Amino acid sequence: MPSSTLNIVIFSGAGLSTESGILTFRDSNGLWEQHRIEDVASPEGWRRDPALVLEFYAKRYHAQAACLPNPAHHAIARLAARHSVLNITQNIDTLLERAGCSGVWHLHGRIDRQKCEEHHSLGFPGDAGMFTCDFLSAIERPIALGDQCPKCGGQLRPDIVWFGEPVDMREEELGKWVRKADIFIGVGTSAQVYPAAGLLSIFRNTPERFFVDPHPNYDVLDGFTVRTGSASAELPPLIDSLIAR
Ligand SMILES: [Zn+2]
Repeated sequence: MPSSTLNIVIFSGAGLSTESGILTFRDSNGLWEQHRIEDVASPEGWRRDPALVLEFYAKRYHAQAACLPNPAHHAIARLAARHSVLNITQNIDTLLERAGCSGVWHLHGRIDRQKCEEHHSLGFPGDAGMFTCDFLSAIERPIALGDQCPKCGGQLRPDIVWFGEPVDMREEELGKWVRKADIFIGVGTSAQVYPAAGLLSIFRNTPERFFVDPHPNYDVLDGFTVRTGSASAELPPLIDSLIAR
């Protein structure tokens, strides 16, 4: 019987959910389901045409609800049931939750939540007016134009981090895990942009580091044990070997 509990950080990107049928803008040359990114994932796009943005995320909401967790999501849930796991993801879908994970840290927000448009200045971090309203809630249906914040009356918007907006970075929690992590696993991320690239660097002194991706970005994987392949093929055997320890 395995007895010791390991502290494991697992950091996932779009590649974790690709095999479940979730598409992102990375799949199609900067277009996200035929839309320009700046039209559907930026404060400027929101100001220009909120109806278009809400329609876009309504489609994403229904599309991801129709997708199912794949073996990689289920493997992560098994790992979290056996060891102490910090589950960080760049994904906005809820496939990890539906596989049984709780406490997932969504760096870029979640498709099944709404916040107030006054939540953020719609400008750059540090602008006056940030966090003027802290309303945030789960949704059971897509947000519609005219849906008002119960706190301040502002238009509700998706709880998605758009370009130019700050990611949900929790420095203090991250610091604790940097000190105690035994294992770091990266999966399905190109790890080329902030904050992904920074996370790999922050955990550079973690004793064991693994990376799973069909096209590993070796420039940032010094010291990693790399498993080249899809998340659903390569992650479950790695995780089951850790569960058996
Ligand atoms: Zn509000």
